[in-house]
Parts: sequence; structure tokens; C-alpha cells
Amino acid sequence: MQIRPAATLALVRDSDRGPEILLLQRSHDAVFLPGFYVYPGGAVDDADHTLEPHIAGPSDADISRLMNLPEGGYSYIAAAIRECFEEAGLLLAATDDGGWPDLAETELLQWREGLTSGERSLAELCRAHNLRLPLHQVAYLDHWITPPGPPRRFDTRFFIAEAPAGMQVRHDGAEIIDHIWLTPTQALADHAEGRRLFGTPTLHTLRLLQGFASVAAIMAHVRQNPPEPFPYEPWPALKDGRQITLKPGEPAYAEARLLDPQGQGGSAAVIAPGQPVTLAPGVVRLTAPNPGVMTGPGTNCYLLGSGDDLTLIDPGPAIDSHIARLLEHSGGRIKRILVTHTHRDHSPAAAPLKAATGAELLGFAVPDDGFQDTSFTPDRLLLDNEMLETGAGPLQVLHTPGHASNHACFLLPSLQMLFAGDHIMQGSTVVINPPDGDMKAYLHSLHRLSLLDLRWIAPAHGFVMGLPLAMIDYLITHRMAREFRVVEALKALGPADIPTLTSQAYSDTPKALHGLAARSLLAHLLKLEQENHARCEDNRWRWVP
Ligand SMILES: [Zn+2]
Repeated sequence: MQIRPAATLALVRDSDRGPEILLLQRSHDAVFLPGFYVYPGGAVDDADHTLEPHIAGPSDADISRLMNLPEGGYSYIAAAIRECFEEAGLLLAATDDGGWPDLAETELLQWREGLTSGERSLAELCRAHNLRLPLHQVAYLDHWITPPGPPRRFDTRFFIAEAPAGMQVRHDGAEIIDHIWLTPTQALADHAEGRRLFGTPTLHTLRLLQGFASVAAIMAHVRQNPPEPFPYEPWPALKDGRQITLKPGEPAYAEARLLDPQGQGGSAAVIAPGQPVTLAPGVVRLTAPNPGVMTGPGTNCYLLGSGDDLTLIDPGPAIDSHIARLLEHSGGRIKRILVTHTHRDHSPAAAPLKAATGAELLGFAVPDDGFQDTSFTPDRLLLDNEMLETGAGPLQVLHTPGHASNHACFLLPSLQMLFAGDHIMQGSTVVINPPDGDMKAYLHSLHRLSLLDLRWIAPAHGFVMGLPLAMIDYLITHRMAREFRVVEALKALGPADIPTLTSQAYSDTPKALHGLAARSLLAHLLKLEQENHARCEDNRWRWVP
């Protein structure tokens, strides 16, 4: 798929509450990010490449160098300014002598209509009123390339400028259905509490812009700290003995960069069960031979430490060859075994390994919902936030209910690596199956993980993942986007039963998966019930305003 160049413009203004940013809500029918709050912006189009005669300030060569492009950097800013005018009615332009354009409101609206319909162009407007695009007022804020998956992909440059004074925001009412000025702190609180949807890059920029006293302070900071060139280089790796090239977004990409920072091509692009992989000194992954739809390449078991001081995270299933492999690799000297939770692909090997090594078993209390490995009996219960001294350094225990009520993640601060169990999986949606699975708790736990200082996520299924905050933001947003659909279905159809609501709220999901989807739907409904926004009578759910 072609990755389209795109640009957005974050407009900021001073207020009593500190600098505020303009956010526009995309329509619920949009193909890309429906219902999300975004900055004005869109794809760079052909006409944007004809605006060079109308720019003021730095030259295209200077802008392109800053943006790490051979040429044409100005066209991105021009596209952002044009989209901002079309979507929000704000025109960032100045007359030849640097003043604001003296255009009557009605005339401005006519130009905007003309631009939106494609009958007129921004170049014509510039010529007609001697206007220039003041590129010196715009700073380069961020650069994102959207990952594979959604129907469209964009290579987006983010810019920031002070909002033009004395102009009213008028969103177009079609593509854009709402606009709001928020401080970055307010917007991030809305995200944390699920009140508004934001894309991962928007959240990233909101965090960058937090905590400034004024627009001037923001602009000075952004000018001094332009984004790093995006790490979009393909990385070499090995697959079936052959050299291949991994692209960003492919499952093995981040791990290849962790294990092979020089890019010599020695890391494996497949997970081979039974084959130990050293992720860092004293951190080894051994994957169990239980691949499947729910387990991906198999359950990852992590051995921390060396010699006589070995800690095993998630022993995995009780498969003889797997247990033999763990004993062989550890020399039979496992001191303690931690479990992230007690689903049957995670903990059954604990009892036989304890019998063979005398290891101490630690975990949170095993619930009784018919889906647990009841052979697991902890010698001691873990405590939330406790620090365990392992052979690889201190390890922090984090109780993260959601996927399972007894779920734990483990943080190795020396590597900023999170052993995430099934709370964060690679490439598939985590199952939240009530009553032991709890959506509200799951999102709360994700939010808690988003506050940690992380560099890597080592999941129970899949490769090590990079960009942890982007991953966590995406998971929260993905769930909240679904919850918005559940709410819409409830409002439109309620009181309604689960199958009726599922077919509406999951109309984008293949019918074959609706059984599973119904469990997720129930998890969302129970969350809404806890928040007093849904009620169930006679197996029929309705919306509570
Ligand atoms: Zn699980």
C-alpha cells in the first residue's frame, strides 16, 4: 500500500488556564479515525506543490533540511495551512508587509467554500489578495508514519503555530463535527478517562506540549527541539537461514533493533520454540511448543539471572519436552517461579518444575471461574509494588487485573523492560472474558502502565516490542473506540439483548468471531454499568443517560 504524505497544524492560543490547542472532531462516518479529535490536517495534494512563490520566511532548502527531505518541505506546511482553512476556517496568511489579511468575513467564507469544493485554489487566493504563507510563524513539531493495518496509511508531519488573532473557528460541519480548545493537560485527562478519542501521534504531541506557561514558551521550545528523523530504516534479519529485511511495524522489527543494534542481520525474524534467545545479559526467552490461535508462536518463558540465582517468569504449559528444555537450560537451578496469571498456557509447568528444582512458586491468588490452572498453588502470594531481588537486578511486581483478576506484570527497571504477560500481546486483541476478565480494570491497569518509564515490552506471546507508550495509547484508544460504538448501539437499539447489540457494535467484525465479540461486548456493558451508564433487565440492556 502507498503511504501518503500528510500534514497537520496544531494551533495554540494563550488563555487564563495556560496555552490551549485547537482540536477538531472527525465525523463518525470517516474511514480514518472516526469520531477522533485531531488537529486540522490532511493529505498533501498536487496544488500544494505550486505554492512556493507565495511563501514568506525560510527557504524551501532550509525547511527541507530540517524535515530531512531532499526538497519540497514547504508543500507540507502549505497543505497544513490549507487544510486548517478548509476544516476550521482559520487562515494563517499575511499580507506582503506582514499584516493580517483585510478580508471581509463573507469573502473569506466564499474562498473557503471554493477551496473545499476544489473550484478555487490557495494560490489564487494568495494572488488575489497579495497574501503570503508565513512559514517563519510555523514550527516543526513531530513526524509519524502510521503502522500497517488500517485501510489508509500516512506519513504525517506535525506543525505548530499561534492561532491567527481575531478569527472565529468555524468547523465545516461535514468532515468535522465539533471543535474545542483544550490545554494539553485537559486533553490528556479526557484520554485517560475515556471521554474523548485521540490518535497515538496526537497524544504524543500533547505530552510534548504539556507544562508550558505561554504560547511563546511553547514556540521557543519546539523551535529548539525539532523532531528526530523518524527511525524508518528497514532492518536486516534472518528467516529460515535467509537474509530478509524487516520494515517498521513488522512483529520482529523492534527486537531486531534491540538484539542487533549495528544492523548486521544476525537476529531471528521468527520465534522458534525451544530455542533460547538472549534478550540482554541475564535475560533469556524460551518459547514453549504450544503455538495456536490464542497463543501465537507459543507461550514465552523468561529466565532472569545466571548461575544459581535464576528466576523464571511464566513456566508455561506442562509439556514434557518443554519442561526438559527449561531444566536443561537452567541447569536445574531455578530459585523461584513467578506467574503472570494462571490461564492454562501459563502456569501448569510450575508444579513439575518445583518438584524437580525446589523452586518457590509466587503469584496472585487463583480465581475460580473454570478457566484457571488449579494445579498452581503459590508458596507465597505476591504483593502489588513489591520489589523482588533477582539475579538480573530488582524486579517490580505490578498487579494488573483486567485480562485475569490475578494478572501481574513485572518491571525490570535496569532495562526499562516490562514482562507484560497477556495484558499486552503482540498482534492480537487481548481477550476480556467476564466475570474474571474486567474491562474497567483492564483500562485502569493500562493507564497505570502508561505512567512507567519503559523502553521495551516483553509479552507472553510474540517478540519484544518497542515504542511502549505508543502501544499502550493505541490499546486504550482501540478499546474506547469500540466502547463508543457499543454506546451508540445501546442508544439506538436498547433495551436489546447481547446478540442484537453485538451485530450492530461489531458490524465490522467477521460473523464467525461474533461469539468472542459477544464476550467483549458484555465486558464493555459491565464497565458502563459500573459507571451508571447501562442497566440490564430480563437480559436486555439499555442506555442510562
Ligand atoms: Zn491469559
